[in-house]
Amino acid sequence: MSIKNQISIINNEIKDKADLIAVSKTRSVEQIIEAYNQGQKKFGENRVHEIVEKYNNLPKDIEWHMIGHLQKNKVKHISKFISLIHSLDRLSLAKEIDKNARKDNRSIDCLIQIKISNDESKYGLNPEQLDSFYTDLKEFENINTIGLMAMATYTKDQSLIADEFKKMEKLFKEMKTIDSNFKILSIGMSDDYQLAINNGSNMIRVGSKIFGQRNY
Ligand SMILES: *Cc1c(COP(=O)(O)O)cnc(C)c1O
Repeated sequence: MSIKNQISIINNEIKDKADLIAVSKTRSVEQIIEAYNQGQKKFGENRVHEIVEKYNNLPKDIEWHMIGHLQKNKVKHISKFISLIHSLDRLSLAKEIDKNARKDNRSIDCLIQIKISNDESKYGLNPEQLDSFYTDLKEFENINTIGLMAMATYTKDQSLIADEFKKMEKLFKEMKTIDSNFKILSIGMSDDYQLAINNGSNMIRVGSKIFGQRNY
């Protein structure tokens, strides 16, 4: 299946229920252009050096999304152009994003990353920490907090994934009632985006289903 076909299949499935972020980590500029020529304008990356290089070498109407763990000392490389940071998970990072956004004379949209999975390696805040983290974020004038992001446990157990997505939907609804800026729930990847959409996702991050298997 070609990249083009996969994108139109996914778009047909999700209709206008969710925004598709094409996860282009490890993919070449040529592969991204093939997706772009099919009308895909939003791409997600998890490494700063890679996103910067692709930003420099690809059309400027692409929206770049940072979906991976972000180190503070690298924020300065993406703050000029990044559309949405999905992985805001600690105050020290918020401080750095805010500082760089101010320097660049802009605000940066961010999602708070929540840890819902049992996997040891997943980043994010514990759900119990969300309230106080959200309150602390208010001091950062150049950060717009517009929603939540999470990654499900890496498992074949669909009911576990569904439980995790339901928890996210509940948290998201609670946040929306206290803050009308909360608009985005970023959950769902290649193997579980339909389940995610059924549980309130309105932004999915899909890589291998579009571009094929990755080598890591
Ligand atoms: C790699 C990645 C994805 C996409 O994963 P696929 O299974 O290839 O769709 C989504 N979100 C994050 C945070 C990722 O790192």
